Amino acid sequence: MAFEGLAERLQGTIQRIKGKGKVTEQDVKEMTREVRLALLEADVNFKVVKDFVKRIKERAVGQEVMESLTPGQQVIKVVRDELTELMGGEQSKIAVADRPPTVIMMVGLQGAGKTTTTGKLANLLRKKYNRNPLLVAADVYRPAAINQLETLGKQLSMPVFSLGTDANPVDIANQAIEQAKAEHQDYVIIDTAGRLHVDNELMDELDQIKSNVKPDEIFLVVDAMTGQDAVNVAESFNEQLDVTGVVLTKLDGDTRGGAALSIKAVTDKPIKFAGMGEKLDELEAFHPERMASRILG
Ligand code: GDP
Repeated sequence: MAFEGLAERLQGTIQRIKGKGKVTEQDVKEMTREVRLALLEADVNFKVVKDFVKRIKERAVGQEVMESLTPGQQVIKVVRDELTELMGGEQSKIAVADRPPTVIMMVGLQGAGKTTTTGKLANLLRKKYNRNPLLVAADVYRPAAINQLETLGKQLSMPVFSLGTDANPVDIANQAIEQAKAEHQDYVIIDTAGRLHVDNELMDELDQIKSNVKPDEIFLVVDAMTGQDAVNVAESFNEQLDVTGVVLTKLDGDTRGGAALSIKAVTDKPIKFAGMGEKLDELEAFHPERMASRILG
């Protein structure tokens, strides 16, 4: 299960402080020390941990007395609030263009789950929002990626726009948008190329698609299992492309939680969706508050 170690440690800490009728500065000090260790063990970015612990220490010591809660509960509330805030506070929405189609560009490294997420997102848009998306195969380097998207399209009974591997990704994207307009499709989701590592060539290509197509959303797909690597990848993509949101995949795995807890603080971009499995209906809106509750019990 995701966050298992972190949840266990934080819940242990919480149990110890919960029943306290009086919370001393020493108690807060001990608690924050344990929170710090738990977060570092969960592979949360070092600076993120430092800032987080500083904030809970300040708030836990200087907090206003709330009559409805015991002092122990108040300290726990501080941790819960800050953990929620760390993951992005309120849940964020998906854009809708003034004039359809709304264009979403999917970016990320190979293997992160970009193509699968493209299919999942299309499925979600149709099921939850009654939308009518067009999927676009713009990874011209890997025929397998095009086939994969076409297979997903068949499973979903959704159209897939492809010009094979000889066309230019910018042309593919532009022609797909024209087709969507003609066919009254209100979302266009472009599955772009990925590489094994971040490189300039890939970034230049994505930049060109971005500046030509002017997407309403750029979703960066990252693998939660890769921890701080995911955070570094997110930083690079965001610097180049100014993404609008992150999709964190493989949260059904046993990730320690470092990526989920660091990405927002490091990139200032919200995690909008979470991949919870390989199937096409296993994509969920990311709810920071629910995630914090899952961690704190
Ligand atoms: P891409 O190279 O980024 O397009 O990655 P793919 O979409 O091909 O996905 C790579 C692998 O990750 C595939 O085996 C997917 O089934 C798997 N995958 C994608 N998202 C998730 C997820 O949320 N959970 C799990 N368990 N597997 C996922």
